[in-house]
Amino acid sequence: MDEVYVFKAAFKYRKGLWRRIEIEGGQTLADFDGIMREAFNHDTWDHLSEFYPEHARGMNGFGEIEPHGGGTGAEVRIADLGLFEGDKLEYVYDFGDNIQHVITLEEIVGPESGVNYPRISAKSKTRKRYCVECKEKGKKTVATWICIECSEEAGEDICLCENCLTSEHDDHDVEEIQY
Ligand SMILES: [Zn+2]
Ligand SMILES: [Zn+2]
Repeated sequence: MDEVYVFKAAFKYRKGLWRRIEIEGGQTLADFDGIMREAFNHDTWDHLSEFYPEHARGMNGFGEIEPHGGGTGAEVRIADLGLFEGDKLEYVYDFGDNIQHVITLEEIVGPESGVNYPRISAKSKTRKRYCVECKEKGKKTVATWICIECSEEAGEDICLCENCLTSEHDDHDVEEIQY
């Protein structure tokens, strides 16, 4: 039976937002990339990504991974990375936007029966933010977007729900809020 690697993955510059990911030693960096994209809401159909040993950015990574699992790093097995508990990896999604993540190997455990790996086994609980426009109308709606332009103008975060985003901020520069 395969060993299961338990990783905690977080945004490098927003460490409070993390996901715990479990993946088998025999699975590949392409599998890991797929679950990272799912865990952090990155597009699965666009952009390259790459895993790196800690502090090795700009030096040799483990090879690029294409959106649908091709690329020089795709076939590398997790067990062949030579990781011990406490070791860290870095993961960069989209070399244009350069979205950086830090991944820590928490422990190596035995597989649970009936579980499909890789899987996301836990998520950080981040404070919910609410739509400012709905609030004005007396409604409490969880915000999923932040309008960069209006936030800069207002000097505070203008968080919006999907509906208010499309009605009022259609042509503004916006960013998705992750929880
Ligand atoms: Zn709203
Ligand atoms: Zn706006």
